[in-house]
Parts: sequence; structure tokens; C-alpha cells
Amino acid sequence: MTIPDNVSCKPQFTIEQAEEIAGQNFAAFGTAKELDGERDQNFLIESAGENVVLKISGPQVDQALLEFENQALRLAEAIIEFDSPLLLKSIENQVIVPVAGGGNSESDVSLVRCISFVSGIPLAKFKPHSVELLASLGRNLALLTGALSALDRNSAAKRDLHWDLAKAPDIVRASIPLFEDGSKQSQLQKLLRNYDEVASRVESLPKGVIHNDANDYNWLIDVPSGSDSATVGLIDFGDAVYSTKLNDLAICCAYLMLGKQNPIDALCAAAKGYHEIRPFDDVETSVLFPLACMRLAQSVCIANQQKMLRPDDEYLTVTEKPAWAAIARLVELNPADIAQQIRESCNKTAVTAAGYLFDRQEILRLRKRHISPSLSLSYKNPLQIVMGKGQYLYDQNGATYLDCVNNVCHVGHSHPVVVKAIADQAAALNTNTRYLHSNLVQLGQRLAQTMPAPLEVCYFVNSGSEANDLALRLAQTKSSSRDVVVLDHAYHGHTSALIDVSPYKFQRTGGRGKPDHVHVIPMPDGFRGEFRYEDSEYGKKYAAQAVEQIDEFVKSGRKISAFIAESLLSCGGQIVLPDDYLKMIYETIRRHGGVCIADEVQVGFGRVGESFWGFGLQNVVPDIVTMGKPFGNGHPLAAVVTTREIADAFDNGMEYFNTFGGNPVSCAAGLAVLDVIDKEGLQEHAATIGDSLLGQLKELQAKYPARLGDVRGKGLFLGLEFTQPDTRLPDAGFAALVKQAMLQHKILLSTDGPDDNVIKFKPPMVFDQANADRLVDNLEQTLSSLE
Ligand code: PMP
Repeated sequence: MTIPDNVSCKPQFTIEQAEEIAGQNFAAFGTAKELDGERDQNFLIESAGENVVLKISGPQVDQALLEFENQALRLAEAIIEFDSPLLLKSIENQVIVPVAGGGNSESDVSLVRCISFVSGIPLAKFKPHSVELLASLGRNLALLTGALSALDRNSAAKRDLHWDLAKAPDIVRASIPLFEDGSKQSQLQKLLRNYDEVASRVESLPKGVIHNDANDYNWLIDVPSGSDSATVGLIDFGDAVYSTKLNDLAICCAYLMLGKQNPIDALCAAAKGYHEIRPFDDVETSVLFPLACMRLAQSVCIANQQKMLRPDDEYLTVTEKPAWAAIARLVELNPADIAQQIRESCNKTAVTAAGYLFDRQEILRLRKRHISPSLSLSYKNPLQIVMGKGQYLYDQNGATYLDCVNNVCHVGHSHPVVVKAIADQAAALNTNTRYLHSNLVQLGQRLAQTMPAPLEVCYFVNSGSEANDLALRLAQTKSSSRDVVVLDHAYHGHTSALIDVSPYKFQRTGGRGKPDHVHVIPMPDGFRGEFRYEDSEYGKKYAAQAVEQIDEFVKSGRKISAFIAESLLSCGGQIVLPDDYLKMIYETIRRHGGVCIADEVQVGFGRVGESFWGFGLQNVVPDIVTMGKPFGNGHPLAAVVTTREIADAFDNGMEYFNTFGGNPVSCAAGLAVLDVIDKEGLQEHAATIGDSLLGQLKELQAKYPARLGDVRGKGLFLGLEFTQPDTRLPDAGFAALVKQAMLQHKILLSTDGPDDNVIKFKPPMVFDQANADRLVDNLEQTLSSLE
């Protein structure tokens, strides 16, 4: 992104011409002195009476913009707490006077305004910056933001301005390669990363017209003689723009941090003042620091480009040196700690939708007392997560975590489209399937469109367990039997019927062993199982072994109702099924009169990239498909999709009623999720990012083969298997260490697999390449430190 050269728009009037224009049009007679300015030519006209400033805008400047700026000046004038330039009228009672000249052609006309001179020393040169002075800057900005909101609908405000802080991330991203100094590049990258982590939160903040340039040369401090209190003035409304309201404070804070022993104290003091007038919400406290840093990054990037255009213009780069010095210090700070400091200085407690937060200790105490002890917590020191956006989670202190685990909030935490769909439908109606409602049938139609024929009949339920439970009932009715074939280490849900078909539960701690009606076949683990990747026939061998075992069960007098399997194995340790594996088993099950159930609760909805459903990777068509977790993006919504034949067999006179299943709100959530996957191209995204990440992880494995035994998966469903040094023996302890160390990098992962030695990776689908790079970098640091 190139920065427009505003300076070339600047008119070139001489001192004498300026004196003449001021005298003739504004009766301001005196000597002119040229002042700094990026776009306008500004002259101080000093006379025996009052000093004024003549502002001349070149012919290219749009008059509507000057009128908008004038309105902003008038609104600021009305605030008595601080000084701002007064707009002066010409002899002919005008505030904008056209004068000939200023451009390259003779017919060019420049636009001249005259404003009062605000006296004072620029804040950059004023000492000391007392806490009270800094707080008053914050208060004044909050008042100004309030006053300028009268202009929020002014179309001139919505302009394209490279100094708009909203543009900073793009400018910085594009500018990084222009710096030759690698350490500067990495400092800017760090600030960008901090910003990217809160970007979606910034987007949710209120917008309006702001001054947009409360820098340390635009704040003027005056201590009138005989007084010990300073008056504050703010000048230069030429950058006013429609942007995030908080940006005014962030910009001010950026410059307040320059040259300070304790930059964060300065930021907190201004924030405290601002908070007194415009109380912060929790999002604002957590984004203020990354935004302020973005302004400094924007400033050095713009200066760098402008320097190339005008190497001799000192004004352009006045902030550059102190900004770099500040950046070097600020990159070392943790944004979460600073959010907490801001909160403390504003005396703010984090809040949730449900009211004020209990502190961690109180939550732990109440949880112990009133919540089932069978529920587990992630991490020895459990996290208190209060908010989520996209692929990020935020704790009660504002710390940001990169979520690499949550495949439930599939299209991103709190996706605004899904949130709105749920809220709008909840505000209109929530009933059940006993009335006609278009959401229900639309969702049925949309879901069926994602399936191969003859899968077309849907049952909507509330959880993956309910879906699998119903799938087993459908299979039983169809086959008039109860026997189920499952893969070893599989988990299919928490109801009694499903614990019975989940070796992951029944054969581990607390389980009651395998029931008679359940037949377990080995999981096709090519890394540690009986047949391995090294054998090109390993998949066929597993399938043949399974076929033989199924034939044996039947020979022993059992009648098979169903085979249930995930299309990629999650609890089994993120295992990708070998080619044609399901095909051979499905044929065998069907030969014995059973139905084939694909459990897509973990892997469905485009996660595997290459296909919308995991079973697509195996070129099979199941008889029943179950899905859950991602379907409602966190709202409890799950489903079973089957054939007409199976649905008709189940329709045997007993009504199927599900109080919540298929209600209009849940269906609205499901429709929104399908829309977002489609509109944001998330399946293709999963394929691209997943492929690239898998490649990066394989490179990492090549560097740490002793511990990182296997890296596998598909799309955004990957696994890293850790072993005891140079063996294939599982090392759950090491996997746990890696997971814990990654928490220090604020990256959330989990472990699973029969021996708990596999790190699972299944993030929200908006996980991007920068996240992938960060994940691999931090894994590398972790592995090298644990070696
Ligand atoms: N099937 C699979 C493969 C699962 O992983 C899970 C949950 N982890 C379920 C079914 C059960 O889903 P739910 O927890 O929504 O009942």
C-alpha cells in the first residue's frame, strides 16, 4: 500500500502573498511566518492585536471536506474545558474564501480559512506531564468524541485517509518489507500480531467522527503567568474522520508514551481521565494498548515512505526517532498485563453478560460445592475465559489465547452472523416442530444438499450423543437386531447406549467392560498398530482383518444391526483412515444386513478441507450420518440424516418427539453456520491452511524425530504423536509438557488418543496462516527447550 503524497497537494504561496491574503480578506494585518503542515499551507499572522492562523488548502482539496472540518471546529469550540481554534469570518462574512493560485495552472483556485491562534507549548516540549495533566487530556478527548458525534452522518467524514488508524494494520503489513533492518521488521510484526489478536474485538466497537490526530504537537499546554494550573488546547482538525471512537484515545496514548520512563503509566493516566467521561467496556480496555502501538507502527511506516519522497522534510519525520525508541520497549510488554493495569487504574471490574464476574477463587469454590465432580477442567491452573472472537479466547484479565482446540465454534467464536441469527429468531419466536416453520424445512433442505443420494431425511436433535443414540435406534428398527460393530478406542457419546458402544469409555477407568452385543475391531493405526505406514498394504491388511472378525461374529450366531465409526478418528488420536478402509467394511456390514453409521460429530462441515463430510475422503455413502458440535457454532444443535427407506422403517407408529430438536432458533443457528461456511469459503480455507500447516509440522518432525513420532491429519484436523525418545512407545507425560509449555505462549491445545500422547489440533475454521506460523514457531521453541 503506497501512501499518497499529500505534500505535493500543498500550495506554494509566498510569505508576502500570505500577508496580502490575510489583510485583504480577513483584515488581519501583520507579519506572516510559515508553520508546519502536511496538506495545508499554514501561516501565523502576528499582529499587534490578536495572532491568527491562515490555512490555505490547495486546489485539489474538496470543499465539502473543509466544510466538514469547520463543523468539527465549531463543535469543539462549544466545549469549554479546552481551547481549540475559533473559525474567523472574512470581511465578506465567509469562512472559506477562494483565492487564485496555489496550483500549476493559472485557473487554479485555493481555499483559504482563518482561525484564531491557540497559544501554548506543544505537549512534546512541555514538562512535566503530571498525572493530572494526562488525565485532563483523556477527559477532553472523551468530551470531544461526544461532541463530534453530531457529525456521525456527515458523508465527508467517511473518507479514505491513510492516517485513519483503521488502516494502520494494512499499511504496516505492506510496509514491513520496505525496512532493511530485520529487527525493525520483527518489532513491527510483533505489534501486528498483538493487534491481529484483538482485531475482531476492535471491529465490534462503536464508530463515529473523531479528531484523529491528538498527537503531542497538536496538544498545546499553556500555563498563564501567575497561575500554576495549565490550560490545554487542541489544534489541527484536518484529519477528522469517521472511525472507531476509541481511536482518538489510542492515538493520544501512542504519543503520550514517547520518551517516557514509564510509558504505561502515562497511558493509564489518560485512560483514567477518558473513562471518567466515557466509561470503558471490557473490550475497550483490552484493545487500547494494541491500538496505541498500531498508531506508532503506522507512524513509522508512513514516515519511512514519505522520507523516500522528501528526504529533506524534517516535519514529516518529527516523531520517527522517539516512536522507534518507544516501540523497542513496548514490544516487550504483554498486552494482557497492560489491559489489567488499565482496568485497575480505572477501578474497573471485568463484567460478563450475566453481571459482575466472580473472581477465580469464588468460582472454584462454588464449582466444587455445586457442580458435578465428574466434569474435568483443562490445565492444572484452570483458565477463566470470559469472551471469544474468531479463533481467539480472552480471559478475565484480557489475556488473549489462540484457540487450537475448539471445533465447536466452527466458524469462529461469537461469529456475528450466527449471533444475530440466533438473537433475531429468539426475539421473534421459539417453539417446536409441531407447527409449520420455514427454518426447519430450509435447514433440512440445505443439509440434504450437502449429502450424496439417497441421504435426504433429517432429524434435528440437541447433541452429538442424542444424534448417535437416535442413529442406533434407527439401525435397530431397520435391522431388527442390536449388535453393533465399533472401532477400538472410539467415543460416540454419553448416554447409556453410547457408553456401551464406546471402548474409549467402557474399557478405561470407571468403565464396566465390553457388553455382549458390542464387537470391537482394531483401529487402523499406521504408526503404532499391528500394520504400519511402512507397509504399502497396511490399510488393506487392517480392513481384511476387520472383515474376518465381522464374519466371525456373524458365524458365531450374532446378527449385526450397525457399524458405527468416525470418518477420521478423534479420540483414537487424530487418525486418518487408510484408503478404501471404510469401503471394505461397509460392504461386509451390508452383506450381513447391518447399516453403516458415519459419526461426523467432530470432523464434519468442511473441516477436512477436501470434502464437506469426512466420509467423502473414503468414497463411501453411509446409511446414516450423525453430526453435532460445529452445527450450531456453540448453540446446541445436532442432526441425523438418513435414507427414506430407513426413515420409513422407523416410522412404525411410535411418535418421535424431541422438545428442543429442530426449534426455530436452533435451525436459524444452523442455517447461519451453513451460510458462513459457504460465504467465507471455509472449507477451501481449511484445505489450504491445513495443507500448509501439515507441511510445516512435518518439517518440524524432521527436526525433532526422537520425540515427535508422527504428524498426521487432514485439513484443520491434525495430530502430533509424542513418543519416548527414539521409540514408538507413547509418552503422555511429554505431550502434557508440550501442551503446558504452549499455554505459556497463550496457545490452547489438548491431548488425546488411547495413551493420551497425541496433541489434537482442531481450531475454529478461521484459523489462518499467521496463526499457523505462530503455532509452529512456538512449538519449535518448546521442543528445543524440552530437549
Ligand atoms: N461422537 C463423537 C465422535 C464425539 O467426539 C462426541 C463428543 N466428544 C460425541 C459423539 C458426543 O457429542 P455430544 O458431546 O454433543 O453429546
